[in-house]
Amino acid sequence: MNKNFKKILVFILIVIVIFISYILVTSNSKTEKPSLKKHVKTEEKKKLKLREGEELIETTSKGYSVTKLKDIYYVDGVLIVNKTYPLPENYQPINPYKEITSDYLYGGDYIEEKVMNQFLKMQSDASKKSLSLKISSGYRSYKVQVDLYNNYVAKDGKDAADTYSARPGFSEHQSGLSFDLNGTNENFIDTKEGKWLNDNCYKYGFILRFPSGSEDKTGYMYEAWHFRYVGTKLAKKLYNNGSWISLEEYFGINSKYND
Ligand SMILES: [Zn+2]
Repeated sequence: MNKNFKKILVFILIVIVIFISYILVTSNSKTEKPSLKKHVKTEEKKKLKLREGEELIETTSKGYSVTKLKDIYYVDGVLIVNKTYPLPENYQPINPYKEITSDYLYGGDYIEEKVMNQFLKMQSDASKKSLSLKISSGYRSYKVQVDLYNNYVAKDGKDAADTYSARPGFSEHQSGLSFDLNGTNENFIDTKEGKWLNDNCYKYGFILRFPSGSEDKTGYMYEAWHFRYVGTKLAKKLYNNGSWISLEEYFGINSKYND
């Protein structure tokens, strides 16, 4: 064999060995280090999810954690009010937007400031399409809900009232995170405003809280006018490309009174 050829062969072999060792070292560091980091991260996340004083109540059928802090229930960090998870009697919006404007149909039902700001954006975009949106009912105190519910029970009976009105403490209106728009009209979905809201509210972080066909999950009849703020990320998931799914279905939680 030619001497030069031997040298070249040895050189090529050395280069191959170096190259293979390099690949092995880098692939090891790539797989090991980040996975360790990821593990630590999820552990941290789990710990961070529980705030001071917050306790884990249960894990839902969909794997989300239900927690309780100051007698308020959260599912995956989202405040929940329904027939299973009530609010404490003294609960009020934390940072209310109290300015009484023409954005309210009747005035006085202030809601959380961040919710109001999102509503104002949505209202402004809607008005560009000649649509008029007004809050007909925002925050309702426990006491107001007592009177409202009792009136409905006196009028229609308890069973019927429970399908469209919440018992005191169980109304989402007490959270200051939800509102009714333009009244509570059964034909609202047939109006231009109702149709636009159905397809666009999620872009502002709002969900149609009681979708059609979800009565057995939400515990309430279809309400085309009642919206709840959950943030744009979750709202988009629940919008579900136009086939709204309820918070109850998404999280795998119930909405049923104990009695
Ligand atoms: Zn409502």
